[in-house]
Amino acid sequence: MIPRAPQWIPRLLTNQLIIQRRISVLSGSSAAAIKTDSKMATATPNSTSNPTQTEATLSPAADYKPRYIDIGINLADPIFRGRYHGKSRHPDDLKGVIKRADEVGCTKLIVTGSSFKSSRDALKLARAFPGTVYTTAGIHPCSSSIFSSSHHRHHDESQSEGEGAEDEHTPACDPDPSKPIADGGGIDHIRTKVIISDLKTLVEQAQLPSPSAAPAALVAFGEFGLDYDRLHYCSKEVQLHSFAAQLELAASLQPQLPLFLHSRAAHSDFVWLLQGAFGSRLERLERGGVVHSFTGTIDELRELMGLGLYIGINGCSFKTAENCDVVAEIELDRLMLETDGPWCEVRPSHYGWKYLVEKPAESAPSPATLEVGNGEADEAAAGTSQQQPKNKQQQQQQGKKNKKNQKKEPEVPERFKVVKKEKWEEGAMVKGRNEPCTVERVAKIVAGIKGVSVEEVCEAAWANTVKVFGVE
Ligand SMILES: [Zn+2]
Repeated sequence: MIPRAPQWIPRLLTNQLIIQRRISVLSGSSAAAIKTDSKMATATPNSTSNPTQTEATLSPAADYKPRYIDIGINLADPIFRGRYHGKSRHPDDLKGVIKRADEVGCTKLIVTGSSFKSSRDALKLARAFPGTVYTTAGIHPCSSSIFSSSHHRHHDESQSEGEGAEDEHTPACDPDPSKPIADGGGIDHIRTKVIISDLKTLVEQAQLPSPSAAPAALVAFGEFGLDYDRLHYCSKEVQLHSFAAQLELAASLQPQLPLFLHSRAAHSDFVWLLQGAFGSRLERLERGGVVHSFTGTIDELRELMGLGLYIGINGCSFKTAENCDVVAEIELDRLMLETDGPWCEVRPSHYGWKYLVEKPAESAPSPATLEVGNGEADEAAAGTSQQQPKNKQQQQQQGKKNKKNQKKEPEVPERFKVVKKEKWEEGAMVKGRNEPCTVERVAKIVAGIKGVSVEEVCEAAWANTVKVFGVE
């Protein structure tokens, strides 16, 4: 039997032409950034909102399917099982969360391990969803009080019921400088040895080959680092100790793992400790690393990229105009995408939100309208042309009706229904609980800020992530 050429081949060639035509209308670095290899020979389904680009660069081709890897999702958080602050509020909808992610093209999820419990829970998830869910393992700066001599519970202990059950949740993303813990509480050096030994065992066990021959579940060491925005969880002194001790462990692992790093308002200490462990140019960092949820300055960004590190971007990276100026400076070959759910959703108050706003249909037909063909849009157009209002009153009424309808249209369309947790329903997202399917918004905003296509952003982030974490 003679094998037939796959149906996608002519389409791929067509897309190659589209890309080449786009390059011809682009100028400068944007054009240089576009690659025309087979992976890139597709076109975006969503136009970017960048006003500096011509429509030719924005015209979508229907057959590019974006692909995303959410590199930072706290999927082991009980909130994805319907538990909020220790109380069950709705059915476990973890599978729905993963399904929605898959529907937007987010087919790989790297679940953040930020404590012993969350790292173990993340590992269980990875084993339950092999090839989709991967994990990291480490102690987040906000979970680092276990290194303090004033910490009284066992470092691997977790509470799951009643008072203190919020401990099982990951720390929220936003800064909270309300009650910083002062330095001077002391470091428990004896316990540190036990913690590091236990963490080493956890990491090594997570790397053992699975009996089912599934892909390796653990793909990075971390999350760990420094967070001086949230000293109420853990003092600076203890955070520095925790980061240094874990860096020493990470550097000693054979083979090394890529690093999943967290740095907030702590840049110089962060870089100094990294260089102490891996050399002034991080030359001993064999597998690289990502500084996730980046919200630092342009100078900090440049220093991190100069050290060969990757930058993870989520909704928190778009809060202000300054944040967005920093995002504009990220080299595509250093970019990774994440949601950091259940935190860090993009909100209307964020400066970057404007890149999600669709243009009104009157001024610029949306791609959906153009592509509908014989669908609803054409019917609507035919309807309005055939049924012209007969008099001024009717015209006014229709005008009011149109305005009313326009008001009802959300500026930023929701792909999935969103409900409050009290009104939970199957298939809907929960208001205020960010989840991996929103990674497409992160990509769209990055594309808008940088003035490149969503496709370029998606493909660059995918390639970077696969290269560092080996998740393909
Ligand atoms: Zn983090």
